[in-house]
Parts: sequence; structure tokens; C-alpha cells
Amino acid sequence: MQKQALLSTLIDSIQDHIWVVDSESRYIMGNRHFLDAHSITLAQIVGTTPSDLFGSERGLRYSASNMQVMALGSTQIREDVAPHPQTGEPMYLELIKSPMRDAQGVCIGLVGVARDITMRKQAEMELMQAKDRAEAAERAKAEFLANMSHEIRTPMNAVIGMSDLLQGTDLSDEQREFADTIRTSGEQLLALINDILDFSKIESGHLSLEQVPVALSDCVETALDLTAKPATTKGLDLLYWIDDEVPRTVLGDPTRLRQIFVNLISNAVKFTSAGEVVVTLTRRISPEGGALMHASVRDSGIGIPADRVDHLFQVFSQVDASTTRHYGGTGLGLAICKRLVQLMGGRIWVESTEGVGSNFQFEIPMQALQTGPVAWSGASGQQLAGKRVLVVDDNATNRRIVDLQTTRWGMHPVCVASGIQALQLLQSGEYFDVALLDVQMPVMDGYELARRIRQTHSAVQLPILVLTSQGIEANQTAVLGVAQTLAKPVKSAMLMAALLKVLDRPAAPRMSGFSASRPAALETLNAAKAPAACGVVSAGADAKPKLAHTYPLRILLAEDNLVNQRVAQLILQGLGYTIEVAVNGQLAIDRVLQACDTEAAFDLVLMDVQMPEMDGLEATRRIRSDVKANLQPQIVAMTANAMEGDREQCLEAGMDDYLSKPIKPALLAQALQAAALRRKLGQGLTT
Ligand code: ADP
Repeated sequence: MQKQALLSTLIDSIQDHIWVVDSESRYIMGNRHFLDAHSITLAQIVGTTPSDLFGSERGLRYSASNMQVMALGSTQIREDVAPHPQTGEPMYLELIKSPMRDAQGVCIGLVGVARDITMRKQAEMELMQAKDRAEAAERAKAEFLANMSHEIRTPMNAVIGMSDLLQGTDLSDEQREFADTIRTSGEQLLALINDILDFSKIESGHLSLEQVPVALSDCVETALDLTAKPATTKGLDLLYWIDDEVPRTVLGDPTRLRQIFVNLISNAVKFTSAGEVVVTLTRRISPEGGALMHASVRDSGIGIPADRVDHLFQVFSQVDASTTRHYGGTGLGLAICKRLVQLMGGRIWVESTEGVGSNFQFEIPMQALQTGPVAWSGASGQQLAGKRVLVVDDNATNRRIVDLQTTRWGMHPVCVASGIQALQLLQSGEYFDVALLDVQMPVMDGYELARRIRQTHSAVQLPILVLTSQGIEANQTAVLGVAQTLAKPVKSAMLMAALLKVLDRPAAPRMSGFSASRPAALETLNAAKAPAACGVVSAGADAKPKLAHTYPLRILLAEDNLVNQRVAQLILQGLGYTIEVAVNGQLAIDRVLQACDTEAAFDLVLMDVQMPEMDGLEATRRIRSDVKANLQPQIVAMTANAMEGDREQCLEAGMDDYLSKPIKPALLAQALQAAALRRKLGQGLTT
């Protein structure tokens, strides 16, 4: 009896539903939870069937499964969904049915246990949904990267290709400098795009930083070069200053460091409509006593609301959607900067006041290789030392920078904020060796000031240099006897060279000292005399026989983008080829088939991948299946898709080679040569 009480207490205390039926599936007993769930007593349930409890449809199903378990004589475990007896909500159950035998082993009934696993199931489903969502987000991100890469590479192809071609034409010195800048800036931009593609690499922890000597001024200046154009268009003063204490060369990753500067400076320019963007590098000491490079990019722009500052460095985060629409952008820049700075062992932050401006700053540990700006010495130093320079600029930061720069060289600068003040100084009899005038000033601009100065001082008495953030007006400078126009932001080396030139006319500008970190700047100044950097077009033009003579090919270009067509056409023309163009995959197939039937077959198809109507992959598959073996052209992909796996996709579709855009003339020439050789070989085999 005691045993019976113990057993029923035990069974009743179990939270699962437990019941027992006889060999005809009639209830013999049920535990407390089972009875309570069905609002029934033990006396009431004995002798009833599942149909009495659950209605005939479910009841018959349950009875049938009970009979089956008893007939098979083995335990059955399965999951089921049933409406909750009280609420009717779907309930997930784990069912265990075990046959019950008498002493002789004859099956006399069945014990059933039903466990409510709804919570576990829901958690599982939520987990699955979250996983699906995460995977979809991952796919969307990869797609976004692929699209961005493609969208940006297409116009970049045009920029780089066209400037390459431009470099191969007859240009004035000024035009050549412009073309060179377009070319280098284009290449830097492309490098940046690749860096953005690297973002996933950074995220997944696969990015390793270079440790090579970095000339810091070079790094900042190239970043400024890249952002100077939009700043100029907006009439912003783009300025920079590197403190004497900052080492000239440090150990680090120049590309990544420049990428950080480009991101911060271009943001500053983007979000500033008037005033200035100032980049400064200083040396700081960490709490542990190590040397840090502190960089600041300060603007006088729209600023950032205090409550948004914390979010800025997160991926795809922008202050608000309307800002994005107004200013454009991806919301990736600062997230990349943060990751890179962290990888460099530093930190990045911003101080900002809405409506006043922002100051983005980062600090990274630095290991100095060469310290300080090169001390000027020798002839150039002596030429500048002691000279008096009149600096006229309405921008206080720029006055300060020029003041510091010229003082560094031993000069005596006198800085004033307006043309009127400058004229007063000159009229009072102050003597200056040279005047440095900003062009964009209110009331009296630099040209007007130069004109007024010329009324009293000849070009020999007072040489004038002008600083401008806009285009150079050659006729103005000639009339006013301006010795040289310098584009802002003025690089130290440029300014020094210009000062040396006007103060020591007979001697060629020398760069002993300062420019060791930036010899290129001087080269640009003297670029006029340098032989032109030639693209393939002119390189092959006269000296060597053109590629087409050595490797004649009938070429079809399948490309939908007009500018890309033109770029390819011009490069190929330069190599001596005349080409035909088809603007989508379908037309390319039509032309290839038609040429096989009526005239000489094409030797080579240069195939863009993304095209309307039919893409390059499909077109390739069709050409491979529809054209006779001995007439099969070589097919080389020319595509802006540069993601992992794109090359394999092209080769799988049946292409022979792959070139990623922007097309480099030298690589195209190599590919043509290889295609010509393969074609010759192929023809040899099939004929
Ligand atoms: P993007 O500029 O491509 O949108 P970023 O990550 O570089 O992406 O910047 C994120 C957001 O931070 C910007 O959209 C902008 O709202 C804000 N921001 C960044 N720099 C500045 C700045 N100098 N002044 C004001 N707002 C800024």
C-alpha cells in the first residue's frame, strides 16, 4: 500500500503528461498533470477512449497509434503538434509510448508520456531564423561589395585609361601635369577601392599591416592631393602642418595610413561648405612613456550632434538619412579608419560642435626612423635666411602655417590679414624681399592687391608669389608680373623651391635639406623639361613595330559601356589593331557566327562580363557550343568584377584568359600576344 502511494506521488509530481491505456486503448489511469490539463478526474477517465477526450478525429488517430505500438511491441518516440487542451494554441510535444506486458510477456496495454517542448522548439526556430537572417545579411554585404566594386571600377577604367591615352598625346607642360595628376589620383582611388574590398578581410581578422619606412609628409600630401579638387571647387582652405617634433620617417604601413587620412580629409571637405580644413601632425607621449603620432583633421563644417558621436565609427552608420542623401557616401569610411587605427595599436575619436565643426583625431604609436624636418643648410638655407617675406592671407590658420614654415627656414615673415594692411605696410616704407599673396580674399583679392603693388614696386623690387585654391589664371599672372602661382595646399617643399627661385634667380632650385622627404614635389615644379611619361599608344608608335604587325588578330570587342568601348578602342588602335564592337552578348554571338559563315572568323573576342540582354558568361558558353572547333575564337574576359572567384567563373564558362578593369595597356598587350600564340597553336592542331 505504501509502495502504491509512493508510486502515485512520484507520477503525480512529474510535469509531463502520463497516462496508461489497456489493450483496447481505454484509459486505466492518468497523472495529475494529464488529468488537470483535460479538467477531468481519475474516476471520470477510467474506461474512456482517446476519442472521448480529444474528439473523434484526433482520438481515432491516437488509438490507432496506440494499437500499432502494442502490436509491434516496442517503444515509439516521436514529435507531434497538438492544440493546447485549454488555450488551443499549437503545442509541440515529444511523445514516448511504451508497451506494457503481463508476467507472461503478453501486451496488455501501453504507458504514454507527453512532454511539452514548445519553448525549446520556439527557441530552435528563433535560432534558425536568426541564422537565416545573418546569412542573408552576409550575402547582402558580399553582393554590396561586389556591386560597389563593379560600379566604381567601370568609371575608373575610363579615368585611368583615358588619362593614360592623354599622356601619350602632344601636351603642353601644364596639361601634362594635369594628366599626370589625373592618372596618379585615379590609381590611388582604385587602390582605395581595393582597400574597401579589403574591409571584409579586416573584419575577419585577415589583414596584416606592412612595416616599412613611411615618409609622413609624403603620406599626408598625397592624401591632400587626392582631396584638393573638391576643396578647391568649394573654395575651402585646405591646410596642413607637421610639427618639428614629428619624425620625418616612421615605421608603418603607408597605404593604410594614407587611407585613413584620405577618409578623414574627404569627410571634412564633404561636410564643410565654407572655411577651412586643417590637418596637423604632432608628437605626443603615451601614459606609458612611448612616442605617439597624434593626427588631427579639423574642419569648420556642419559638425555632429552629441548623441550621434558614439555611433559614427560603426559600419554603415551615418548621422542621418537626409544627410546621406545630401552628401552621399557609404558609411564605411570611419568604420574602416577605426579598424585600421586599432590594428596599428592606436585609437580614434572626434570632438565636434554642431554648426561649428569637427575635429577627428587619431593617435598611433610610432617608431621613428629619421627625426625632425631636415635642417636646412648650405646654399639654399643661406639664400632664404634673413629674407623678409610679406604674407597676406585672410585665413588665420594659413598665416600661422606660412609664418611657421618660413621662420623654420630663417626668414622674417610679416603676416597681415588684408590687402589694405599690406599696402599700408608697403607705403610706410617697410622693405620686403618677396610677397606671398593669397588670391581668394574678401574686399581686395590677391590679383587686385598685386596690381596695386605693381603701381609702386616693380617685379624686380618686390617679387610676388600667389597662392590659390582655384585655377591658375595665366593671363593675370603674366600682366601682374607674378613670379609663380602655387596651388593650395602649398607643400613646404614647393613653397621653399618657389621662394628659392625668386630670391636666387640665377641658381636652379636646390632641395638640400627640406625636401629629402619629398623630392617629387620639386620634380613636379620642373616637370616642364622632363620627357613625357608615355602610354602604350605612343610608346609603340614610332620606335618599335606595332604589336598588330607581329601578332595580327581580328578582334571583336563585346562591351556595352560607351566610355569603356572608347578606351579599349584607343588602346588597341595604339597597338595597331582595328576592332569591331558588339554592345551585348547576343550581338557578339551573332557577329561571331556571321563572320564564320561569310568572311574570316574572329581570332579574339574581348568580352565584358556584365552586359544587358545577355551577359559575357552566357555568350561565351554559346560561342563554345555553336561555333565549329577550327573557327573557335580566343575569348578574353575584360571585366570590372574583381571579386574572388570571378576569374574562375570566366574560365569555367569557357574563356581563355581574364583581364580585370581598369585595363592596363601593358597587360592587354601581353594578353593579346598570348591569345595570338594560343590561336596559332589551336589552328595548327585542328587543321
Ligand atoms: P560616409 O561619409 O561615406 O557616409 P563615414 O563612415 O566616413 O561614411 O562617415 C559616417 C558619417 O559620419 C557621415 O555620413 C556623416 O554623417 C558623419 N561625418 C563624418 N565626418 C564628418 C565631418 N567631418 N563632419 C560632419 N559629419 C561627419
